[in-house]
Amino acid sequence: MELSEPDASGRRRPVEIKGSEFLLPADVVIIGVGTTANPLVQGSTPGLETTPRNYIVADPETLRTSKRGVFAGGDIVTGGATVILAMGAGRKAAASIHAFLTSGEWEKAGNRE
Ligand SMILES: Cc1cc2nc3c(=O)[nH]c(=O)nc-3n(C[C@H](O)[C@H](O)[C@H](O)COP(=O)(O)OP(=O)(O)OC[C@H]3O[C@@H](n4cnc5c(N)ncnc54)[C@H](O)[C@@H]3O)c2cc1C
Repeated sequence: MELSEPDASGRRRPVEIKGSEFLLPADVVIIGVGTTANPLVQGSTPGLETTPRNYIVADPETLRTSKRGVFAGGDIVTGGATVILAMGAGRKAAASIHAFLTSGEWEKAGNRE
């Protein structure tokens, strides 16, 4: 595949390179694609609420989890989704973390600078 010249919208689309396909001999092909939640954080963080499928439960607006000062977003909350949604969650989480750190709530929880 290669990228075409930009179309009217300016987007370069992938187009086939004729005759570029080839065969690669193999005995076994393993597809290494993760589409489920990595359970490490959930399993080692007491008090972190998760769904039955081991995704982290977070408020959709603040991205706060059941654990104070822990925020979550992206695929680990929604399940497999898109980069755009994960980026949006990152922005929301950043704003929420900023509010948490600057509102005094962090200090009230007994933490120091
Ligand atoms: C095969 C495939 C194709 C896709 N194609 C598209 C596409 O064309 N367009 C699109 O929009 N989306 C696509 N997606 C979905 C997209 O990749 C995800 O929605 C997006 O990457 C989610 O971002 P995230 O930051 O939430 O999670 P991730 O990108 O998965 O990032 C999580 C990170 O945390 C790390 N991590 C996990 N556990 C720990 C731990 N315990 N400690 C430290 N680090 C840890 C992981 O290694 C990883 O780097 C595709 C997904 C797959 C699997």
